[in-house]
Amino acid sequence: MKSIIALCLFLWTAQAYEYALTPVKVSEDVHCFFGALENITKENGGNMVNTCFVQTKQGFVVIDSGPTYAYAKQAYTQMQMIENLPVKYVINTHDHDDHWLGNSFYKSKDALLIGPRTYEQNVVVGMETRMQRTLGSEIYGKTEIVSLDTVVDNNLTLNVGGKILEIQQLVSKAHTQGDLIVYLPDEKVLFAGDLVFNGRVTSIRDGSIIGSIKALEKIEARHPKVIIGGHGYKTDANATQALKSYLLEMKEAVLDALDNDVSIEQVTKKVTMPKYKEMKLYDILHSRNVFEAYRELEMYDEDEE
Ligand SMILES: [Zn+2]
Repeated sequence: MKSIIALCLFLWTAQAYEYALTPVKVSEDVHCFFGALENITKENGGNMVNTCFVQTKQGFVVIDSGPTYAYAKQAYTQMQMIENLPVKYVINTHDHDDHWLGNSFYKSKDALLIGPRTYEQNVVVGMETRMQRTLGSEIYGKTEIVSLDTVVDNNLTLNVGGKILEIQQLVSKAHTQGDLIVYLPDEKVLFAGDLVFNGRVTSIRDGSIIGSIKALEKIEARHPKVIIGGHGYKTDANATQALKSYLLEMKEAVLDALDNDVSIEQVTKKVTMPKYKEMKLYDILHSRNVFEAYRELEMYDEDEE
């Protein structure tokens, strides 16, 4: 009996983390997997991110590969259940590790990896990632860091099986210093990466509040019918609204605090924006965002725009 229990325990621990991914159809030929509105934890296996795949006659194009090798492998299994097709390209929207650590799985399937210049600059093969530290080696499993095949500096247009995909960096610094959007002009579907969040608070620690607002305006100017953010479940034409109003309100409140000589030590206590307190991750991220906004807006001159 004891040995049976030991065997069961061994088999259970040897199993990769089970993500239970369910593809959600967001538009014709476009499916996404939606992650939890949480930070990375062992319990969620890093599945707090949205990833998508576009089906074409020639194969799939994956937008963001997710937090681990096992996640990407399980996503691939789901894709194959829809249609038995190869993955031609994987496009990484930015260099935060929840969005690209599945790359090594897709590389093993001969997909071409595309991403921003910041991936090439900041992602070093063999480095320890935030995901690895949080998940531990068992859940992290076979995850490896791999280099990109193609770096996008400004824009790149792909034609895959007759489907046009426009990849573009909209502003020089927004959520990070290299945020790519992917746009399907014929379907008016826009994959925004972390330029769009909803249902939870964003983090502007590697980016810019002014740039983030500008990027949202540029997204809206294209009048997409479907907008998929890196985090959050809302995918309609108004998916930008929650983040835009959060950032605009923060900009006004912080500029006001600067006008009134509120110090950086005081500003996080003053700009609490209670309207957003119920939003997920407010407690963890909001005051840091205010702090970062203060540092940026101290140097900001609206007339120079
Ligand atoms: Zn993210």
